[in-house]
Formats: sequence, structure tokens, C-alpha cells
Amino acid sequence: MKTVLAALMLVAAVAAAKVDYAGHMVIRTTPTNDVQLNLLRRMQDTAIDFWQAPTFVGRAVDFRVEPQSYSEMARTLDAVHLTHDILHSDIGQMIDNEQQQILLRRALRAGKAFDFENYHTYEEIVGLVDQWVMDKPGLVSKSVIGTTYERRDIVMTTIRSGLNKPVFFFDCGIHAREWISPATCIWIMNELIYKYGNDAEITSFVDAFEWKFIPSINPDGFAYTWSTGRLWRKNRNPLPLGTPCDGVDINRNFAVGFGGSGASGSTCSEIYYGKGAFSELESQAVRDVLASLQGRVKAAISMHSFSQLWLAPYGYNTQYPSNYTEMYRVMEIGVNALTATYGTVYEYGTTGTLLYFASGVTTDYYYDAAQIVYSYTIEVRDTGVYGFELPPDQILPTATETWNGLKAFTAEIMKTL
Ligand SMILES: [Zn+2]
Repeated sequence: MKTVLAALMLVAAVAAAKVDYAGHMVIRTTPTNDVQLNLLRRMQDTAIDFWQAPTFVGRAVDFRVEPQSYSEMARTLDAVHLTHDILHSDIGQMIDNEQQQILLRRALRAGKAFDFENYHTYEEIVGLVDQWVMDKPGLVSKSVIGTTYERRDIVMTTIRSGLNKPVFFFDCGIHAREWISPATCIWIMNELIYKYGNDAEITSFVDAFEWKFIPSINPDGFAYTWSTGRLWRKNRNPLPLGTPCDGVDINRNFAVGFGGSGASGSTCSEIYYGKGAFSELESQAVRDVLASLQGRVKAAISMHSFSQLWLAPYGYNTQYPSNYTEMYRVMEIGVNALTATYGTVYEYGTTGTLLYFASGVTTDYYYDAAQIVYSYTIEVRDTGVYGFELPPDQILPTATETWNGLKAFTAEIMKTL
């Protein structure tokens, strides 16, 4: 009996164990020819976790390697004469440092108001939304736009001062590990809510648009990054028995360019596109919200990290959208205002020409299927110094500069209403 109990306890402990990233490295390599680039691209069909995906010859690629795989990986790269540097030698240590900072800040702020300069769980974020609704019932409302595999509500927050206005739509946290994305979005929401009526510019924004935010469109993945694997990216769809890996990249599951370049049909890939367009509950929820808004959405932002990029469609090919002159004009205004804040340098352009192919993504769907001209992906701080482990003390500057960019962008779009 004792043995059975001990065994059961062990199973429970293993099931609850956190992924151990001790000694995991992030290595950087820069392909100088097509053979090298193609090797790196093929690696995207495996379970290798890319932090900077392969793009073009001459542009750096970063990916994570487990310590036991390092020698073999070095040999694979050597075989095509690819040199590499170790950008981070111990990701586990970085994650430990992040956890310590979060816990320290929590201890210092215990019992005080919601701390926007720290990272929060999904339950805490939903609790914050509930608090806003209680505090400003005429201005803020909450709706549940779907339910995940693990039965979590997908919550959307609406901030509006009147009915039937053009909509400004945000999807945040579609990639679970990009914690700065929900953190930035909730900070912006708080600005809109508490400066409405006090700040002339923000009042004009709230009077002009109905603001809709999904603070985390991937609550299961996000919960998993807190409980188990800090670097999880996809959703937690338990794929059928016999499938080697779980989870779908929600941001490859939309119906524009589905299954094309920059997405993978391999279930273990970090960019696995799923068994069909809109196979996932989270992407279905976004699709249905947009359909219900019946063409009212004027602007849409998909908030990600990291790389410091402001990106327009398309991601699935190198074509420029037919509205690109206008899209570029307001994007540039946004980027200039962002950079003017603290000097943070951003690159901007279309995803497919500037960065990499990514097919089945939200912003291509917003533009092509939902006809939202002002549709962009923003990849906030940093460029890889901390990567996904951006320390809490960078939340406020990141949110502030991003919002400054978006404010200039919003002011410009308002002129077109
Ligand atoms: Zn992302």
C-alpha cells in the first residue's frame, strides 16, 4: 500500500514539475548563403525553439538548445560552415532571476493597489478587469468571447463612451510566453479608463472609438507558462493520442494564407498551424468577435514580443497590401512617436519583406478577410538581451513608449474617420 501511495505521489510530483531550463542556451548564428539558411528553415519543422526565426541571408537567427544537444547541434552547424555564438548560456538562471524579481515586487506591494509594474497571472488580470467594471460601469464592460480546452473563459474588455462607434481592436498574449504583451495591454487599458474625462487627448480617443482588448487570447498557454513551462508559446490543445507533441500556434491558425510559408504541419514545431484554419477555440473566438462587429473595426493591433518591430501585412508573402502607402504613413508616425519617448529603435515594414514569412496570422486575417486597413503586429522590447524574460522594471517604459506610438497613430487615424 505504502509503495502504491509513494508511486502515486511521485506521479503527481512529476506531473506538476516545472520544466527545468537549467543550462539551456540560446545560440546565435548568421547564415551567409542559401544552404545555411535552408538548413535553419528546415529546423523550424522540429521542436527547436527559435527566438529569432530564420529570415534572410545576413540576418541573425537565435534558437534555444538543451545542454545535452549542444555538441550535436554544433556539429550540424559546422557541417555547413555555420559559425555560432552563445548568446545566453543559462536560460534557467534568467528565469530564476525573473521569478525572484516578481516575488520581491509582490512582497513589497502586498496589500496595495494592482501593480502594473509587475507580471500577473490570468486570474489576476481577469480580477483587474472585474475591478474596472465595478469602478467604471458606464465606461468599461467585460464579455466572455469563448472558452478554452482547459475551460478558461476568454475575456474581452470594452471601453466606450457611446454606441456604434468605430472599433479599435487589440489581441494580446497570443503567444503564451510573451508576458510583456498582456502587461502592456492592461497598462494601456488603465490609461484609457482613468484618464478619460481628465486628459483631453485620451477623452477624444475614447469618444471617437470603442476600444476592445483581449488581454490574453491564450489563457491556457499563459497559465502553463506560470505553472510549468515558462517558455511555452502555443495553446494547450491536447492533440490526439499518438501525436508526439501538444499545442497549436494560434497565430498560424487563421484563414488567410493558412498552411503557407513560415508555418509548420509538424505538431512538435513551435509554429504548428493546427489541423485546419480555425481549428482552435481561441482563433474561432477572435473570428466570431470580428464577424459580430460587422465591419466596424477601423484599426487592429496584435501585441507581441520581442524584436522592436512595427509590422504591416502581409506575413504570408512578399506582396504589399493595396493600401500600403497609407498603412506605411501612419505606421511611420507611430514608430517615430514611440522612438521619441526613450530612443528605443524600431524597424518597420511588412512582415514578409522585412522579417520572415508567417502565414495564417491574425493581422493578415484582419486586413484581408475583415477589411481592417490599419492592421499591424507590434513586437515590443527588447532585441534579445532579455528576450522573453524582460525584467519587471522594463514594463512601464515599454508600455509608455508603445502607448505614445499608438497615441500618435490613433490621432492620425481619427483624422480619417
Ligand atoms: Zn508572438
